[in-house]
Amino acid sequence: MMYITKRMIEIRNLLQKVGQSSTVTLPSIVVIGSQSSGKSSVLEAIVGHEFLPKGSNMITRRPIELTLVNDPKARTDYGEFPDLGLTKVTDFSLIQKTLTELNQSVPESVCVSDDPIRLTIHSPRIPDLSLIDLPGYIQVAGENQPRELKRKISELCDKYIRGPNIILAISAADTDLANSTALQASRRVDPRGERTIGVITKMDLVDPEKGAAVLGDRQYPLRLGYVGVISKLPSQTGLFRRETSDILASINRNEKSFFSSYPSQFGPETGVSTGSITLRKKLMQVLEHQMSSRLQETTESIQRELEETTYQFKVQYNEQPMSAEAYLASSLDDFKHQFHGFTSSFGRAQLQGLLKDALDQKVLDQLAARYWNKPVEDLSVAPPELDNIADLPKADPKSPYWHRQLDTASSGLTRLGVGRLAATVASTAVQGSIDKLLDKSSFSKHPSARKVVSEAASTVLADRSYATSDGIEISIKPYKFDPDIQPNEWAQGREHVVGVLQGELNQCQAATKSLENSVGGKKKLKEVMTFVDKARKGEVIVEGDHPSGAGGFSAALLARGREAVFLRDRADIINMRILAAKSRKCKTLENKYYCPEVFLDAVATKLSQTAVLFLNVEMLNDFYSRFPREVESKLHEHMAGGGLERFAREDPKVRRHLDLVHRKELLELVLSKIEDLHRFGGGGGGGGPGG
Ligand code: GDP
Repeated sequence: MMYITKRMIEIRNLLQKVGQSSTVTLPSIVVIGSQSSGKSSVLEAIVGHEFLPKGSNMITRRPIELTLVNDPKARTDYGEFPDLGLTKVTDFSLIQKTLTELNQSVPESVCVSDDPIRLTIHSPRIPDLSLIDLPGYIQVAGENQPRELKRKISELCDKYIRGPNIILAISAADTDLANSTALQASRRVDPRGERTIGVITKMDLVDPEKGAAVLGDRQYPLRLGYVGVISKLPSQTGLFRRETSDILASINRNEKSFFSSYPSQFGPETGVSTGSITLRKKLMQVLEHQMSSRLQETTESIQRELEETTYQFKVQYNEQPMSAEAYLASSLDDFKHQFHGFTSSFGRAQLQGLLKDALDQKVLDQLAARYWNKPVEDLSVAPPELDNIADLPKADPKSPYWHRQLDTASSGLTRLGVGRLAATVASTAVQGSIDKLLDKSSFSKHPSARKVVSEAASTVLADRSYATSDGIEISIKPYKFDPDIQPNEWAQGREHVVGVLQGELNQCQAATKSLENSVGGKKKLKEVMTFVDKARKGEVIVEGDHPSGAGGFSAALLARGREAVFLRDRADIINMRILAAKSRKCKTLENKYYCPEVFLDAVATKLSQTAVLFLNVEMLNDFYSRFPREVESKLHEHMAGGGLERFAREDPKVRRHLDLVHRKELLELVLSKIEDLHRFGGGGGGGGPGG
């Protein structure tokens, strides 16, 4: 007994995972009745727990889809709200509280919502049943209830009382059946009374004669008949809630003692059905029968859905399988492949180029600080004739002043923290390349996973950064005291530095051009520059940085003029130094005091070559071997606890593919389960439950 209902409920739960689009509907028992007809009491008498929202002002605002699972293994009764992720709630007052809150979450202006609350109750003492509790019909809207409440409740009930659902129509014995809203509603959709069970509550409140007459009613005949109950729960006393068995036993005792007191009205010969136990049995039989009579139709609609899904799978995806694991694996493979390509294109030579570029800038800084910027600060050691860069070509190689200048510039370069600079240059370049690879990979569609991979790169790089920079400092130590430049290194430096100076010159020119544009042309800039020059020579007086400017020029214009003058002077110097570097005098190493540009360039090259040996081994190769493993382990952590599925579903294309595969698998499973039912459950319709 009840085999089919149990399996069909399992199947329904599976179908719910297939999603909205499933057209398969399985029968439930829909409970309707007017407010205060005793609807909640009947449901609670079936379940054996007090769990429904109560209170004079409390009206049910959402349908409750209540699934009862007979679970012989359950040690205590418990409820679950699958949509809230609430599992194994053994405290039924908490279930009541949750239902009350879910109910109250529907704003009063909306009246009632057709979004059902799903609740499953497990117990060894309850039958397998699928029930739907609907808002009670109201006769007249109360003072603070909106007018349309009555209509909306009625519309919601109409939606649920359609076939193949069974209607449990609740009416109280102390009201006239002719006025029963539940029976009226059932008649509209089930005029021949074929799928309606009549429940008459509060049998204790009417004269037994009258009660028996209601149960034997012929005015509203129902094929499944009427059952009379007294389902008022025993009043709660003491601190503890009653056990299920208590409640069920107490209702049973109460009903038995009442009905057996009136054998001529309710005795076995009278043919009337009474008692909550009888009602429970009837519900089980009727639902089992309804389920089994729907078996064939349900099977066919599942087959149709599976066929359609299989067809879609063929035309849309060419039957290509898909899983979140496979998607991650292929994304990772692609990325690793790209990464591998990068490792073979980025090595020592590329690192050296980048580091040399960074050091070229430092060389320019040293030149500007030591040679190009006027005036020379430390006059005590400067020969009196030296106050201008123009004197550099005449530098006396024996003069301690020029020695000191070159030594300071050179050690300024070797002691600037080449180790840290090199580690930073390498990290920035590698990190930038990884981020670019990520942008082109499928991780670009998954921001959080992309972040994980990018951070894995930073972690591995940062890990080695300190040791690498220390190691580099040690390896370049000799150059801090004696750079020891060889003739061939000098020749290379001479060639290279001309290009660096030329680049700097181009930048000066570009900056000047943009200044011209910003002031409104070359001519205007010239005028301001002439004024600035005169002011510098003291030919015109400019008192401080007057906000309103001077000489007819605004303060902002004067600032630009000063910048242009600086750029012009810088360009003059660079031009002069390019000529010097190209001159015969700078051809040989012996004249290094005349040609600090060449000397410093050669030192920078030496530094970068030495540093790169270390960088390549300590940082780059280490990164190349550790990064892929780090990515895998970090992604693995990230994907734990449902993260993998979330990750794959972030890509809409993958999500659609996964959904279809999932749907197909579920439908196949459902179909196999339902075919088993045909084989073992004998879905031949079973015997009718009888009236
Ligand atoms: P609902 O509004 O239809 O859910 O009705 P309730 O189940 O809340 O019942 C309304 C009132 O009737 C409550 O005070 C119950 O205790 C009471 N009640 C329910 N069933 C019976 C019954 O069989 N006999 C008696 N005497 N009272 C009942």
